[in-house]
Amino acid sequence: MGFFDYVRFEYPCKKCGTVLTDWQTKDGLMAIETLEIGDINNGGLIYTSCDNCNMWNQYKVTINYNNDDIQGYVSVYINGKKIYNSTQKMISNIVLEDTADFEDNA
Ligand SMILES: [Zn+2]
Repeated sequence: MGFFDYVRFEYPCKKCGTVLTDWQTKDGLMAIETLEIGDINNGGLIYTSCDNCNMWNQYKVTINYNNDDIQGYVSVYINGKKIYNSTQKMISNIVLEDTADFEDNA
């Protein structure tokens, strides 16, 4: 049994469209904290299993930083659609990549 953190994030299941909110990561503090997506280690994974259809949903998080030390709003995009705003310092944008490379056979 390992430690993990929760991730404050909402995104539809890629199979059935149910909005998923129970995202977790092992690429953060691993202290059962609730993290913003910008708190995850760069290149880390967020994942959850859909309660409705059991599909595994998993995304790699790539965080691109500003050179300047500026605090402000940043936007998160999936497949070109803006889905999230964050106030993370120094982050210019965050890109999520689908890395769930297997299908549910149920
Ligand atoms: Zn689903």
